[in-house]
Amino acid sequence: MFRKILIANRGEIAVRILRACRDLGVQTVAVHSTADAAAMHVRLADESVCIGPPPAGESYLNKASILAAAEIAGADAIHPGYGFLSENADFAAMVEDHGLAFIGPRPEHIRTMGDKIEAKRAALELDLPVVPGSPGPLTTFEEASATADEVGYPVLIKAVAGGGGRGMTLVWSEADLEEAYRTARGEALAGFGDDRVYLEKYLDHPRHIEVQVLGDGQGHAVHLGERDCTLQRRHQKVLEEAPAPILTATQRHELGERVAVAMRRLGYRGAGTVEFLYQDGTFAFIEMNTRLQVEHPVTELVSGIDLVVEQIRIAAGEPLRLGQDAIRFDGHAMELRITAEDSETLLPMPGRVTYYHAPGGPGIRVDSALYAGAVVPPYYDSLIAKLISWGPDRETCRKRLLRALQEYVIEGCGTTIPLLRELLTAEDVQANRYDTGWLGRFLEARARGR
Ligand code: ADP
Repeated sequence: MFRKILIANRGEIAVRILRACRDLGVQTVAVHSTADAAAMHVRLADESVCIGPPPAGESYLNKASILAAAEIAGADAIHPGYGFLSENADFAAMVEDHGLAFIGPRPEHIRTMGDKIEAKRAALELDLPVVPGSPGPLTTFEEASATADEVGYPVLIKAVAGGGGRGMTLVWSEADLEEAYRTARGEALAGFGDDRVYLEKYLDHPRHIEVQVLGDGQGHAVHLGERDCTLQRRHQKVLEEAPAPILTATQRHELGERVAVAMRRLGYRGAGTVEFLYQDGTFAFIEMNTRLQVEHPVTELVSGIDLVVEQIRIAAGEPLRLGQDAIRFDGHAMELRITAEDSETLLPMPGRVTYYHAPGGPGIRVDSALYAGAVVPPYYDSLIAKLISWGPDRETCRKRLLRALQEYVIEGCGTTIPLLRELLTAEDVQANRYDTGWLGRFLEARARGR
């Protein structure tokens, strides 16, 4: 096991990783920008190093500063968390070249899955179902037209270099394709410096379903079930739950097995998530995230497995201790992402927290780095807390989450708690009747009604 781990992140996820280190008896090094000098992750760590000014490009994304901090502190491994450098293959390779362990997958797997076309190709080779579309970048309009005819309208034109929900053009009919194709290429060049685009079938009422995996890089891999993250705002997840309420036990089992087999064939190392869209009984691969995800706690609550501890053990070279048959799922879990935004306008609203009271009681977990007096700076992601609940069934779980939302008090910065209460009590959410576009339509109707 490692002696000392440097955590190259901030906020709730840095605190989450610190907790796993402490449970394992490993020392911790926090890094922080000047804006985060008094942040919770800095206070809780055994040591801390300032790595630069507030803008992430000069601090949390500054590879050289982070490596220097690891060297000065004598860390033997780096955990990247999510976001920032977590899916940067060059950084992972640099960490390993410096003789440190990178708590994550092998650089080549990060690189493959980080390229949309390569990832789709890899998924096909691994026998995973993918969204029908062009096998590679489109070179001519004729090729785009032929592919669209083959898969059927509506279609999406996606920028190869796109990401974070940007660089996608929806085309409803053949008449609009030529102009959309040219515009999409132009926008891809302007936005990402790369005009390559590809085309795939647009699914118009999908659910987002993803499978959590763990592999030891020594040929052993397991799945830890799926999560349903269908409630999304601008392709950003808002509510996540496990198990996916829309799947049958057989579908759930088959999907998990198929992904686990694929990860064994790949020789995957570490934690990862394989994401699918699900519509009319069919799954289609969209991407693989080669890191820990924001929504990992829902899987922890239904499986009883500490994903961060497992990540660290794997990176330390230990073989996977879990056999697929020994992994059991119990009850239902849900997570809500609370962001520092105005609940009405949904505009960012950072600030200094003047009052803080976290909920508790049966079935409740709070992952947050907030405290009374903490500053929510304007420079980073607006996620300030994750509220997670467990119950023996979905309805008990939902009610506990609602109870916790009613107890939660955060004053001094914006919070989306009032909006989340509306969502949890919406009839469609209670009845599990929604697709990935539901929240967008809900918010539009809400804005019109006020
Ligand atoms: P990004 O890397 O930008 O996050 P993804 O390919 O993961 O791009 O897609 C982000 C989101 O866009 C998905 O969660 C889904 O809501 C939507 N999406 C992507 N591809 C399709 C598709 N073929 N049909 C319908 N929606 C899609």
